[in-house]
Amino acid sequence: MTASPRRTVIASLAAAAGAWYLGAFALSGAAPAPIFAFGLIADVQYRDAAPSGTRFYRESTAKLAEAVERCNQLRPAFVVQLGDLIDGSLASYDAVLPILGRLRAPVYHVAGNHDGAVEPGLQPEVLRRLGLDRRGPGRGYYDFARQGWRFVVLNGNDLSVIAYPEGSPEVAAATAMLEKLKTRNAPNAQTWNGGVGAAQLAWLERTLARAAGARERVVVFCHFPVLPPGSATLWNDREVLAALEASPAVVADFSGHEHRGGYAEQGGVHFVTLRGVVEGHDSAYAMVEVYADRLEMKGFGREPSRTLTIRGASR
Ligand SMILES: [Zn+2]
Repeated sequence: MTASPRRTVIASLAAAAGAWYLGAFALSGAAPAPIFAFGLIADVQYRDAAPSGTRFYRESTAKLAEAVERCNQLRPAFVVQLGDLIDGSLASYDAVLPILGRLRAPVYHVAGNHDGAVEPGLQPEVLRRLGLDRRGPGRGYYDFARQGWRFVVLNGNDLSVIAYPEGSPEVAAATAMLEKLKTRNAPNAQTWNGGVGAAQLAWLERTLARAAGARERVVVFCHFPVLPPGSATLWNDREVLAALEASPAVVADFSGHEHRGGYAEQGGVHFVTLRGVVEGHDSAYAMVEVYADRLEMKGFGREPSRTLTIRGASR
């Protein structure tokens, strides 16, 4: 089939302008182009181990490679890896980080509980392997900006009984928080969850206030959801939710961890949990196109597509 002259011209203009997101633009012709786009992938959870239930650990490398190839075709501005990239051993990173290294776009990592589930004593290496010790305050949380948007990455392993060596003050503080939740019979009082510590929460509030002052729109990433409620949310989900809801700048919060995925909307903010790559035989990932009035989340594999409107934005 021959491309129409109009489409050819548009494609040429896009190439000449150095357009870095070609997904919808090149194909739709008349449709307005997104401002930019970013990729999302969650719970790759690679380990060199036989399948367990619905988790096919060794298949994760092929599924990740497929996502990387697609991203390289679509050319997003960046890709966010939403946590639990590996499981079981620090050496698991040697199988997946080189695949992510083939991405042409920069990768932003988010720490997950299974990232911390490495050999005893090696937990502090995880932030180094993911380069998170070099971002923000070096504790796994940080932010970055692009074209009027602020992207805020939270570290839900800040308080964790998994991500720090046994006997450490971090595990003691996390155990105290978990025990308190257990006395309330909270469904998320589980060792596989984690929390956001006081210093990070204060940093989040400062970062959101600065973004609102600069009239930026904000997207938050955290391995653990704060909504919908369930057994997989952050230990202090309510505190983080209150901070997000209090900010007029926040548009969406993307997470992983709950492998079946999920969605909730509250106060005009979208809470999206991506489906886990490690589940089943098909991959699951998304490309989020940013427009002035909405985010168009295009799902691939098992991930559904969603339109996330921006509150207060006029079409
Ligand atoms: Zn997880």
